[in-house]
Amino acid sequence: MRRYLGRSSGLGVSASDKNVHMSTTDEMVSAAAEYAKEFGSAGLAAAPSRKVTVVACMDARLDLFPMLGLQLGDAHLLRNAGGTVTDDTLRSLVISQRLLGTRETILIHHTSCGMATFRDEEFLDTLEQETGARPGWSPAAFEDPATDVRESLRRIADCPWLVSTAARGFVFDVTTGVLEEVRSA
Ligand SMILES: [Zn+2]
Repeated sequence: MRRYLGRSSGLGVSASDKNVHMSTTDEMVSAAAEYAKEFGSAGLAAAPSRKVTVVACMDARLDLFPMLGLQLGDAHLLRNAGGTVTDDTLRSLVISQRLLGTRETILIHHTSCGMATFRDEEFLDTLEQETGARPGWSPAAFEDPATDVRESLRRIADCPWLVSTAARGFVFDVTTGVLEEVRSA
């Protein structure tokens, strides 16, 4: 059976193991203190100046600012596992459009995504076996990023609360850096 990213789920760890990354947080807190000394972005409006929301996978290899030519203040960025459009993504998109004026949505999935390495039921079974609790949410794994982009575009098109359903979807190739548009099937 396939396991998430070929390893154990990471569950069943002790409370102290769960704090293993705190040293990284400490490093980042230090970096933030340095950042504050040079901070020069006061006065930007909360509403994104380019009226766009980007929904992208949380993958650590996606650097959205240079990839899309973005500057601070330009866009809302929504990131999650897979970059898939979930109910919570729609919640943020509706707020982004209704309250902060965005009108276009860009979806970015990518090659070699962790979401293609497991199956929902298998993952939920493992979580339940290791903890005794089964999540009410769907992990939303997918086999093919382009197929999931099309499904995500459909969820946007079907959302009754959006002001604008203008959306285009893409798959970023993590080996070439090329962003390829997903055409309708
Ligand atoms: Zn991914």
